[in-house]
Amino acid sequence: MLGPVILAASRSDRMRRLISAAPVTKQVVDRFIPGETVDEILPIVRELTDNGLELTMDVVGEDITTPEQAEAARDAYLELIDRLKPLGLGERAEMSVKLSMFGQALSGGHELALANVRPVVEAAAEIGTTVTLDAEDHTTLDSMFAIHEELRKDFPRTGCVIQAYLFRTEEDARRLAAAGSRVRLVKGAYKEPAEVAYQQRHEIDKAYVRILRTLMEGEGYPMIGSHDPRLIAIAQELARTAGRKLDEYEFQMLYGIRGDEHLRLAAEGHRMRVYTAYGTDWYGYFMRRLAEKPANLRFFARSMITK
Ligand code: FAD
Repeated sequence: MLGPVILAASRSDRMRRLISAAPVTKQVVDRFIPGETVDEILPIVRELTDNGLELTMDVVGEDITTPEQAEAARDAYLELIDRLKPLGLGERAEMSVKLSMFGQALSGGHELALANVRPVVEAAAEIGTTVTLDAEDHTTLDSMFAIHEELRKDFPRTGCVIQAYLFRTEEDARRLAAAGSRVRLVKGAYKEPAEVAYQQRHEIDKAYVRILRTLMEGEGYPMIGSHDPRLIAIAQELARTAGRKLDEYEFQMLYGIRGDEHLRLAAEGHRMRVYTAYGTDWYGYFMRRLAEKPANLRFFARSMITK
């Protein structure tokens, strides 16, 4: 029951100020967001790739309020891509972006977000990699899918994310399971009303399996974004049944969560991509990680009391 309360707090400016200023916050945040600058994150990139893992990189930030902030977000990704270039990792290090950080919610936001994200997708393509558009709350998704379709005209490997908790997603998956598409399936991390989304865990899990079957039986490239051991086992089974080889789908997990499992799946020959977030505007991302597992909140609260 704590999850929805934390998700509500993730949208509160007052809570943002309180939590961001707490003296012990940083050391708890580091588990999920292991750096604030490109200089701090590049050693992590090297460590993960040396261990046979791949990355999708997120410069944290969302819900910006001015066009200048959207341009700053674009520039932060361009700097990251520029710094990745000499490493020659190609698609072993791709980018994940949240369109809200590129201005999607501002006036004229759809066009603004497209204009800001396009140079990032172009720069990524120049170094042989690609970009995946994260899924945010359900009100943003029509715009996200339209931007995804537009970008794919020139950059067909641009990926997108679909969320199993939304009723609409089974239909989205059928449309997206086409040749050349890259689709990450996740359970969903936002607080969504019962009119648009399943609320019970078992309903979300069942929807996840139905949607994953559609992706696996389709012609696109499924990206399984989950730490759930049952779903990972089911994904392996569905891939086998659909006759997919190990390089025809991939697993994705978040940095700081089930790290042993990242290495185990990679050692089995799977493509394992770690979603690695960095930057200073970490509040929303961090709060969603707390909401997913109440034990994280207890750890956070204890560290504040014992300091
Ligand atoms: P759960 O049932 O929540 O977790 C399974 C197990 O994993 C738990 O029992 C626990 O052991 C571990 N675990 C899960 N979360 C945590 C945590 N925070 N801390 C510690 N342990 C944990 N959501 C979106 O809405 N949009 C996106 O674009 C998006 N992108 C994502 C990208 C990736 C690569 C991943 C892995 C997730 C993404 N998510 C996104 C988040 C996702 O929607 C879920 O909220 C999150 O993955 C938790 O669901 P789960 O499938 O891991 O299953």
